[in-house]
Amino acid sequence: MANLQNQTVMMTGASSGIGAAAAKRLAADGANVVLVARRKERLDELVNEITSAGGQAIAVAADITNRAEVEGAVAKAKEAYSTVDVLVNNAGVMLLSMLEKDHVDEWETMVDVNIKGVLFGVHAVLPAMIEQQNGHVINVSSVAGQEVMPSSSVYSATKFAVRAFSMGMEKELTHHGIRTTNISPGPVETELATHITDQDIVERFESMDMPFLKADDIADAIHYAVSQPRSVNVNEVTVRPLRG
Ligand code: NDP
Repeated sequence: MANLQNQTVMMTGASSGIGAAAAKRLAADGANVVLVARRKERLDELVNEITSAGGQAIAVAADITNRAEVEGAVAKAKEAYSTVDVLVNNAGVMLLSMLEKDHVDEWETMVDVNIKGVLFGVHAVLPAMIEQQNGHVINVSSVAGQEVMPSSSVYSATKFAVRAFSMGMEKELTHHGIRTTNISPGPVETELATHITDQDIVERFESMDMPFLKADDIADAIHYAVSQPRSVNVNEVTVRPLRG
């Protein structure tokens, strides 16, 4: 396994859940981590935690639905560490609701964050990665990008899109030395479901007895993909919980 010393990893959605856990995991193995999200105070706390433990991190507040802000975040990463070796497109929102409720504003938010945010991230790092003939993009999709449940139609549509995009990246970018990993987590205990506004879905979630993964479990999957030798391109990882 490669050590991540001198590798710069930009992590979107680093202010909570999977992104925060993965940033800590990669920083502990020597990576310089660039923490991106909107809640700057959360990012600053994480920078303190990582640097107190001897790691390297900077915080960049950005809304990934804004292309200029994503480009600005990559520019700040390059200012600090000269290059971005790995982009983890992790930020996402899961605003589950039944279609009949017509939560069209939430559909739009999910398309903007989960799809456009991923595309803007790739747009911002790709020219340099092609020039360097070296890079790695990890897209966090979901098992909802493999299966659809009632209430997940739009969320799943965005996560199927992420997975399709990952497949296309693998086909188009491997010959530039750019690795692509699509990660599909099952249910993970994070803040993700707390943003659901459809009360029927919230109640259904609360009454369901289902096992959850920990954010650290997905952090380990991300670490696995990143720390392989350069000749190894881990394209697909699906991680589901198993009731203990
Ligand atoms: P969290 O809600 O804990 O984290 C989501 C992160 O996304 C936060 O850091 C949030 O930061 C960031 N984010 C949301 N909107 C924006 C935005 N417009 N601009 C920048 N950052 C944004 O959830 P998870 O850690 O669970 O989610 C991480 C990824 O994992 C998501 O893509 C999710 O779809 C996926 N996933 C999660 C599963 C689960 O069960 N938890 C299962 C399968 C996949 P801030 O609000 O500060 O901007």
